[in-house]
Amino acid sequence: MAGDSKHPVDGVKTVRLRLLRGRRDWCLIFRMNATHYTTDVLVIGAGIAGLMAAAELQREGRRALVLDKSRGVGGRLASRRIDGATFDHGAQFITARDPRFVTVLEQGRQKGAMEEWCRGFAGADGHARWRGMPAMSSVAKHLAVGLDLLLETPLLALRRTDDGWHAETTTGRTFTAAALLLTPPVPQSLALLDAGGIVLAPELRTRLDSIEYERCLAVMAVLDGPSRIPPPGGLTPVDGPIAWIADNQLKGISAQPAVTIHATHAFSVSHWDLDRHESGRVLLDAAAQWLDAGVKTFQVHGWRYSKPMRVEEEHCVVVSQSPPLVLAGDAFAGPRVEGAARSGWAAAAAILKANA
Ligand SMILES: Cc1cc2nc3c(=O)[nH]c(=O)nc-3n(C[C@H](O)[C@H](O)[C@H](O)COP(=O)(O)OP(=O)(O)OC[C@H]3O[C@@H](n4cnc5c(N)ncnc54)[C@H](O)[C@@H]3O)c2cc1C
Repeated sequence: MAGDSKHPVDGVKTVRLRLLRGRRDWCLIFRMNATHYTTDVLVIGAGIAGLMAAAELQREGRRALVLDKSRGVGGRLASRRIDGATFDHGAQFITARDPRFVTVLEQGRQKGAMEEWCRGFAGADGHARWRGMPAMSSVAKHLAVGLDLLLETPLLALRRTDDGWHAETTTGRTFTAAALLLTPPVPQSLALLDAGGIVLAPELRTRLDSIEYERCLAVMAVLDGPSRIPPPGGLTPVDGPIAWIADNQLKGISAQPAVTIHATHAFSVSHWDLDRHESGRVLLDAAAQWLDAGVKTFQVHGWRYSKPMRVEEEHCVVVSQSPPLVLAGDAFAGPRVEGAARSGWAAAAAILKANA
């Protein structure tokens, strides 16, 4: 664990998560004040793939340290508050088919971190859609409890050493690890490998280079009255620039009327470099039939890597067996939140096997 490291690391943002674990953990935080850290497995990314992998590695007795460049955990499991309204602006709901993942969601339900939202949008299809409680980021916060992680710590450079990996962050911290797991979207992971001079087999490189992601401009609008979106609060228009529109109040996560609008990939690509506020207005105009209320304020977020357009057959990619270097995330093991979780587990298993 973090406190066992030779030169532990400072991480102010870890405090909030560690508070959930009780007073004992304060000791660990204060012992993490240094610039170099040694661990068994360095996990890059505190999205669902990284969190699931780290939890599994920790269960198997490995020290796993998770780094994320963002201020919070969750990656694309993202929520935001604007003027008293709450928005999920990344993943909208979670589905689960794998019994192991169903168990994770059930455990989260018992802890009050998630619950079933509905059983379908255009009529019930019997399949549960889950939402985070009070919002989607709570799912990640729940899964992060008990893990060692450093936020606002972007990985900058990697280097293979004689018996493992050396990593550096933009914050000037350095890390030594026996194994490395990269869970950012594939193009970002490849850029990190390139920066570290880590060369992939040509066939693997070509395959990974061909994984593209949809882009998504997401509008979060606070309304001055209820929307016209019917229960349970989300729908997929048949045509136009909107891929998805949801009423966060009907969904049960916002005290104020608040809608999330996701643009289609085509609209997002064509408007990516244009004024975000203007693009937001175009999307709000396109959504007029579902709003039925004035827009008090709105923000626009751009997801460059929203969902992979193609998913690899392998559940993770082992770039190097010794020392272990593995790539995981939602481009493997099936897309979306459940696929990312399964990829995280596969990556943990691959690292445990390589390290055996
Ligand atoms: C708009 C949108 C709508 C979606 N809707 C749904 C939905 O309804 N249902 C569903 O199941 N899925 C949905 N998804 C997809 C789902 O969110 C993802 O499949 C899943 O969250 C991916 O998890 P991940 O761990 O693979 O990646 P991520 O969540 O992207 O995690 C990767 C993490 O790596 C971090 N990172 C990147 N580079 C670095 C670096 N250099 N140093 C340190 N950290 C770094 C990032 O900050 C991030 O936290 C949606 C996604 C988007 C964007």
